[in-house]
Amino acid sequence: MGAGKKEHKSKESDNSLCKMIKNGLLQNSPQAYKDLIANGSYYCRKCGRVAVSEKNLCKAESL
Ligand SMILES: [Zn+2]
Repeated sequence: MGAGKKEHKSKESDNSLCKMIKNGLLQNSPQAYKDLIANGSYYCRKCGRVAVSEKNLCKAESL
């Protein structure tokens, strides 16, 4: 029906580790950062970061 339904389609979610690091996660909450990267099984092809969940990376690729 062509309704003006606007979906916010952003590839980078607020869960993005890449984004959180840019926002100072490592400096502000080093423990939270460590929890996110410990035993990481994915890495980001864009930033080279590692995380447990692919959802936390903007360009996740399994290790
Ligand atoms: Zn990234």
